[in-house]
Amino acid sequence: MSKKKIWESIDQNSQMLTKMARDIWEYPEVSLEEVHASKLQAKVLEDAQFNVTLGLKGLPTGIVAEYGSGKPIIGILGEYDALESLSQDSVPERKIRVEGGHGHGCGHNLLGTGGVGAAIAIKEAIERGDLHGTIRYYGCPAEEELVGKLFMLRDGYFDNCDALLYWHPGANNTPWRVPCLASTSIVFTFKGITAHAPQAHLGRSALDAVELMNVGANYLREHLPREVMFHYSILGNGIAPNTVPDICQSWYMMRAPERSYLDEAFPRLVDVAKGAAMMTGTALENVEVLGGGNDMVMNQTLADLFVENMDELGGPSFTEEDYAFAKQLSDQFTPEQKLWGAKAFQIPPEYYDKVLLDKIVPTSDVKILPISGDADPSWVFPFGAFFAATWPIGVFTHTWQATACTGSSIGMHGMLFASKTLAGACYDLMSNEALLSKVKKEFKDLNLDYKCNISADAVPRKVKLK
Ligand SMILES: [Zn+2]
Repeated sequence: MSKKKIWESIDQNSQMLTKMARDIWEYPEVSLEEVHASKLQAKVLEDAQFNVTLGLKGLPTGIVAEYGSGKPIIGILGEYDALESLSQDSVPERKIRVEGGHGHGCGHNLLGTGGVGAAIAIKEAIERGDLHGTIRYYGCPAEEELVGKLFMLRDGYFDNCDALLYWHPGANNTPWRVPCLASTSIVFTFKGITAHAPQAHLGRSALDAVELMNVGANYLREHLPREVMFHYSILGNGIAPNTVPDICQSWYMMRAPERSYLDEAFPRLVDVAKGAAMMTGTALENVEVLGGGNDMVMNQTLADLFVENMDELGGPSFTEEDYAFAKQLSDQFTPEQKLWGAKAFQIPPEYYDKVLLDKIVPTSDVKILPISGDADPSWVFPFGAFFAATWPIGVFTHTWQATACTGSSIGMHGMLFASKTLAGACYDLMSNEALLSKVKKEFKDLNLDYKCNISADAVPRKVKLK
């Protein structure tokens, strides 16, 4: 059985893969700065005889690695960016590893590495002559800032793919069947006039403009559909209060179930910014859309395929130590936190009393995933995604608890299960023409009309928080 051989390949490479995931975890790099992680993955893929491009247009830490030739072409999407200030040791209590350091609180150290493992296993099957076609691994930078895949799509890197496969660390083993939230990331820049604070009447404060914009935005909330969310932070101008700041920026992320909500809300937010500029005598110098994504379009045939492979594998193989680690974390949560944690990952009520989920959940009654990403490739290519359990129920993404788990053996065991699920699905798609045709027909029948959210000349850029 060739599929068995593919899974054996991941077992054989498990040490290399867990070492890679831990290495990336120990050197957490934030969006667009993933130099160490991208070099590490590119080197491993090069050593495995992939044709590797490290450094894509505007994305020096992006990777396209390809092996094989001809159709079908299956793409596996990986990520490796970390989050600011989420440093944490791989222990089940709060222990900062590096003061002020970053951390893998979204588990992208596992996400990318699981994809690399699957791509290598498929490459070996092509080499043996068991499969025909092309496998591509995409190292997608800056997911956390909703940037990488949007630009990679605009610049044609996914062209000719027959299907794209993706997984994300979480608390459940389940396919994504419903859309996630559409999102957009925007920086508003105000320009004023600086002055020494005692002569502030000569100045025009850009910080005042940002503050008034944020007040206005909070009043705007009531008059937008309830589904529209936005969050903001003020980007530091690095000066003391005894100077009137002449430059200040506000960084907004907006989310809604569908792009159309944001298309309506966005110009109103811009009007609020213009009003704030008028009130303060400053100028709204720039409104820059940095990235974002449409709501993710899920392919149900691919979702079914992930479930079939998960069932065949029987779930992740956690150890007694993993369960003990999970229990220690879980004991620190309130019942309410566990409940919301379960809901966030579409875990059905019968599993609410579980600590670490080793079961497979084929479907759920959730209508939308309360997350967003740079999901636009799913509007152009058949796209399948799933969660694999890499942390206990009650842990949310972007927390120190998630960082603790993604550096521990729970994370590694979840990642190996995800890697096998991806590889098994790839195997099926490359060996079963009728299945791939069904995937593509389902996508074609949706008749999607894709509109890119960024301009043709936009360049990926990093937001400086400090
Ligand atoms: Zn993530």
